[in-house]
Amino acid sequence: MEKLLNDSAFDNIRENLKVIRDKISEAAVKSGRGENDVSLMAVTKTIDVPRINYAIEECGVNLIGENRVQEFESKAGELSLSGCKAHLIGHLQSNKAKKIVGRVDVIQSVDTVSIAREIAKHALARGITQKVLIEVNIGCEWSKFGFDISETGEKTAEIAEIDGIKVEGLMCVAPICENNSELLKIFENMHKLFIDIDSKKSDNIDMKILSMGMSGDYETAILGGSNLVRVGSAIFGPRIYSDKH
Ligand SMILES: *Cc1c(COP(=O)(O)O)cnc(C)c1O
Repeated sequence: MEKLLNDSAFDNIRENLKVIRDKISEAAVKSGRGENDVSLMAVTKTIDVPRINYAIEECGVNLIGENRVQEFESKAGELSLSGCKAHLIGHLQSNKAKKIVGRVDVIQSVDTVSIAREIAKHALARGITQKVLIEVNIGCEWSKFGFDISETGEKTAEIAEIDGIKVEGLMCVAPICENNSELLKIFENMHKLFIDIDSKKSDNIDMKILSMGMSGDYETAILGGSNLVRVGSAIFGPRIYSDKH
């Protein structure tokens, strides 16, 4: 591997992952589940290929998330993705759908019926079924994307009818709450919704993934029922945005 960074940058990634995995296991057990019942996604937006490949090849990361189609495309060819899945977790514009369908295992950010139709159209054209999650807007100040919690059940059923995609769960970005018990309540409500949709036993909905929790709140999210946490800066350190973004 090309060593573009000093060794301590890599050591930090390894150390951070160890700490985070311990905390995930602890929270999973505390929530009544097994140590391995919660998946860790490394969120790799703005992170360069050598650091991502280090996390995958040397630290056992087997799931990464990217926000932007263009950024994923520019890195994908150099990433060691043979034993590692990739998800799209950022808002998808319809003119970019063609470029991402079939390139990632799951598109987590389906936030309108029309983007679901657009994804499905390209999936059918490629002869595949694209797995997706439904994004729920739980009142985050900085994310305007996602369905209101009250309409999510109905919209999920509508999206699940579309050929070419398969609904595998829900995702949300939590608001920044000073109050941990308020935040826990929000995650628990998401979990209730997840269970509720699952209990309807719809043929074309397979509620496997409840994607919630980021660097600042993944332990609370797990206590609230999350089974996939999306962690970026706690693994790789603070993001440095170039002015292109
Ligand atoms: C950036 C991002 C994350 C990770 O954020 P951190 O706070 O760095 O862990 C998770 N989910 C989404 C949708 C993101 O955009």
